[in-house]
Amino acid sequence: MEIKLYNTLSRRKEAFKPLNKGAVSMYHCGPTVYDTPHIGNYRTFILNDLIRRTFEYNGYKVDQAMNITDVDDKTIRRSREEKVPLKELTGKYEKLFLEETEKLNILRPTHLIRATEYIPPMIELVSTLIDRGVAYKASDGVYVSIDKVKNYGSLAGLDLSHGSHERIANDEYDKENARDFAVWKFKTADDGDVAWDAPFGAGRPGWHIECSAMAMKILGTTIDIHTGGMDLIFPHHTNEIAQSESATGQTFVHYWLHGAFMNVSEEKMAKSKNNFLKLSDLLDESISPLGYRYWLLTAHYRSPVNFSFEAVRAAQTALIRLLQLIGSYPEGGSVSVDYQKRFNESINDDLNIPQAVALAWELIKDSNVNDADKRATLIDFDRVFGLKFESAPRVEEEEIPEEVKVLAEAREEARQAKDWKKADALRKEIEARGFAVKDETGGFKLRSA
Ligand code: AMP
Ligand code: ZN
Repeated sequence: MEIKLYNTLSRRKEAFKPLNKGAVSMYHCGPTVYDTPHIGNYRTFILNDLIRRTFEYNGYKVDQAMNITDVDDKTIRRSREEKVPLKELTGKYEKLFLEETEKLNILRPTHLIRATEYIPPMIELVSTLIDRGVAYKASDGVYVSIDKVKNYGSLAGLDLSHGSHERIANDEYDKENARDFAVWKFKTADDGDVAWDAPFGAGRPGWHIECSAMAMKILGTTIDIHTGGMDLIFPHHTNEIAQSESATGQTFVHYWLHGAFMNVSEEKMAKSKNNFLKLSDLLDESISPLGYRYWLLTAHYRSPVNFSFEAVRAAQTALIRLLQLIGSYPEGGSVSVDYQKRFNESINDDLNIPQAVALAWELIKDSNVNDADKRATLIDFDRVFGLKFESAPRVEEEEIPEEVKVLAEAREEARQAKDWKKADALRKEIEARGFAVKDETGGFKLRSA
């Protein structure tokens, strides 16, 4: 079945065509391990996981790489502030990140790679850019001349009719400051011992070159999909395209996917704005990582979401109900072909996961599907949802005496015949035997009162 994805490059939904039949290569910009990630970061990491799971559901072989940024402006600054060696700082936050992603049931990418372990390919890429006349040496580092880059800024819709040879050394800046950017930063006193020898001078890579070099080293010069949050469109992904395509002369990425932000009071959740929450803050409010994950599944990835405890709590309540139902359904059913098809159509339509979640509820209410098949179908959907449906605690089937079942059937018949008086009398008889009957769409449920 065809998969459609919204491509930031063309700004429209496109039918996905893989480079290699039945396979997909994808690269995700990973965490910068200088602090605990906030739950906004996890929105993007969960999106990556949903993309991977969608392709796997469709039978693709997924080759997935995600980097760990363990050297950049932010990590170096923090290690200096806290007076701990860079490796110790980044190791601590990498460990925490891995523990938290596991709690969120984010599958481990095929390749999870540290920037500091890929310095040689970064140096090689910088050398190629210098050899091709795209990058030049300045007093404090090596810069890419954006004038020399074909279509610089097209991903971000930038119009650079008047090129500028001003330079920017920082990794992060806005569109108004589009200018020559650093791919290599020469060693400074501030960097301490964080430096590597290179033919063009000892120093360290810029953040942007890290992803270009790692993505191409692991997945090849052209890859199918590259993802990140919207904030990475400029400058990070714009510069990744500039570096990679200038060096290889090939298209770097076919499909660019960007997730919308998690906001707080309509403003982006960010460390710099001090409006962020961590996964542990949610736990303090009795919200589990999977409750949070369920909440994210109910919004489309290209729509911003506004965080509120009420909204997440309501989502968690819905998830608990869902798990209770699954736990009460008998095992041994088979997947409903009709629902599976509709589920597949939803997820393949640019990951319409909210529609897929609504479909799960529709299935639960459908009296034409038996409970065992409902269970099997929901567990099938969970290959994408990742909400651990299969481990929903079993709710033991209650032993209901035969005579109570007969009374309930008779009451149901009376109800169908709109004989309310008789139905009421039968309800009382059921209750007198210590059982309660609850009407549900398409039938009734009996349990001990
Ligand atoms: P960082 O660790 O800062 O490099 O960010 C990791 C990922 O989180 C990147 O893909 C960002 O685009 C993404 N991100 C940052 N802030 C938010 C937010 N408020 N909502 C969603 N994604 C975000
Ligand atoms: Zn990146």
